[in-house]
Amino acid sequence: MLVLGLEGTAWNLSAGIVSESEIIAVSESTYLPKEGGIHPREAAQHHAAHMRDVIRRVFEEASRKSIRPSDLDGIAFSQGPGMGPCLRTVATAARALSLKLKAPLIGVNHCIAHIEVGKWLCELEDPVTLYVSGANSQVLAYRTGRYRIFGETLDIGIGNALDKFARALGLSHPGGPKIEELALKSERYIPLPYVVKGMDFSFSGLTTAAIEASRKNPVEDVCYSLQETAFAMLTEVTERALAHCEKDEVLLVGGVGANRRLAEMVKEMCEARGARFAVPPIKVLKDNGIMIAYTGLLLLKAGKTLSIKDSRVIPDYRPDEVEVVWIK
Ligand code: AMP
Ligand code: MG
Repeated sequence: MLVLGLEGTAWNLSAGIVSESEIIAVSESTYLPKEGGIHPREAAQHHAAHMRDVIRRVFEEASRKSIRPSDLDGIAFSQGPGMGPCLRTVATAARALSLKLKAPLIGVNHCIAHIEVGKWLCELEDPVTLYVSGANSQVLAYRTGRYRIFGETLDIGIGNALDKFARALGLSHPGGPKIEELALKSERYIPLPYVVKGMDFSFSGLTTAAIEASRKNPVEDVCYSLQETAFAMLTEVTERALAHCEKDEVLLVGGVGANRRLAEMVKEMCEARGARFAVPPIKVLKDNGIMIAYTGLLLLKAGKTLSIKDSRVIPDYRPDEVEVVWIK
């Protein structure tokens, strides 16, 4: 079985083709704002302008493995959550491909796709997942037919928090990797608000406090303190979910999962609890078409396809709305 997946919920437009046993091909084009953060309409215009090329390149790579477009069994796309204009651009392309190739259309929840591709490539059975990206920050685990959200951000995602702080320092988007580099130069902790409420966390006040602190302190110290505080919050909630669910695996996914300090903190926590810890390779950690194709394949095998009229995008699509029919 072969499925093509299209991703474009935010800044990365990507197409992937997978079979049940391997990644066949992947291509991408990333929108980088000239200044400021991601502008939804500009990002959508980027996706529209590069769609043809991204699809052409993924087919070109697949053809080197003797796979033709007509061999595809399904066309999957990110149905949400994400930015409305971006989602609509991607959905339109997916519908067109589905009609042209006479292959069924499959709507995929972006957050669940991060989990499923991570489980697949890291060979995990049933992990607690810490999903940390630009817009999303959630702790999830499978229970009785759905991926349940055990904890999540009450305001902005951790990636957006890091990007916003970086912008205040005059650094370009994306700010996360730049903060990571600066943080390596310091070990001086400046107290910042640590906000965990029950199983949820909040990053907005922390970001404002960090911006404030950067006016009076060396920037390296503030980057270090921001990372230590935010990542400890995420690790604490992940640990509690792990204890509550009595699971023994932790999966870290999303663009912020590339941060070595965050991975180190979560790994240490896992070691102390005797749990296995895994982070997938960078190409599937950030937003990518492979994860959409793979989750589309799971849905297709379970018979879950969409008619065109039911294929509207869902900008606030929550992972716990999805019936996980592929796990028995
Ligand atoms: P995503 O939305 O999953 O594509 O992830 C994008 C987010 O990941 C952006 O907010 C980036 O700043 C963030 N990011 C990427 N690399 C790193 C890193 N090494 N450390 C922290 N954040 C990162
Ligand atoms: Mg994502």
